[in-house]
Amino acid sequence: MSNVFAQRRQKLLSLKALRGTSPAPAHTEETCPACGGVVRRRDLVIARYVCPLCGHHYPIGAYYRLSLVLDKGTFRELDGNLTSNDPLSFPGYREKLEQARHRTGMNEGVVTATGRIGGQKVAVGALDNRFFMGSMSAALGEKVTRLVEFAEKYKLPLILFSASGGARMQEGILSLMQMAKTSAALERFSQKGGLFISVLTHPTTGGVTASFASLGDIMLAEPGALIGSAGPRVIEQTIGEKLPEGFQRAEYLLEHGFLDAIVPRTHLRDTLIRLLRLHGKGGSDRGK
Ligand SMILES: [Zn+2]
Repeated sequence: MSNVFAQRRQKLLSLKALRGTSPAPAHTEETCPACGGVVRRRDLVIARYVCPLCGHHYPIGAYYRLSLVLDKGTFRELDGNLTSNDPLSFPGYREKLEQARHRTGMNEGVVTATGRIGGQKVAVGALDNRFFMGSMSAALGEKVTRLVEFAEKYKLPLILFSASGGARMQEGILSLMQMAKTSAALERFSQKGGLFISVLTHPTTGGVTASFASLGDIMLAEPGALIGSAGPRVIEQTIGEKLPEGFQRAEYLLEHGFLDAIVPRTHLRDTLIRLLRLHGKGGSDRGK
């Protein structure tokens, strides 16, 4: 019963998100966590959740994220009912899953879909860090793998927006093996000549960074995004050295060749349209 309720709620949230509106009230104010400035929620919504004072990019949900880049009315979700089922009977996990589903209206930490961007058909996915920090469960890995295989089958460009805390600890080795599974699917996709654009958003860490998120033919990131495998504290303790300023931030990674570009959220859709056209990736139904 509660699952039916969650599905209805998910539909409602996705409809709101795809209309480009936010479910949050527009009249409240918010303190920006980056600059400490007080920003009206209405202004944040208009600015797509980028602080108008300092440019801080707030984390956003997967449905809203996809609504910002897809052509209106083209979103078609794939595998929306695929969900984790507590394979290790980990204490408390089932209850936490139920809470996360109820709170977010989602069944998993990634939304996968087809749609169009600037008229070009794409396979697209977005991780959502409101659902278990976007951590990689067996279901999340399966959804990403199916999306890659879908893109391969229909010769579509693939775009993935990552936002993740890493592995889903409650699923142990089944979580970790998704790194190999998603990477293998991407390798097959790459060998067939598929285009994969990976967009890293704040924060993208752990097993997701160490697998599919880092395998893009084109690597983009939002400004200020924290991107890394192990966290800075773990690295400092391991190597016994202080890390440089801005380590693991998008700007540092761009400077050191890990990224191709940092793209502000407001320019992301136009950038993707340009990249898709540049690579002539209209997919199997190009021109229709
Ligand atoms: Zn700010």
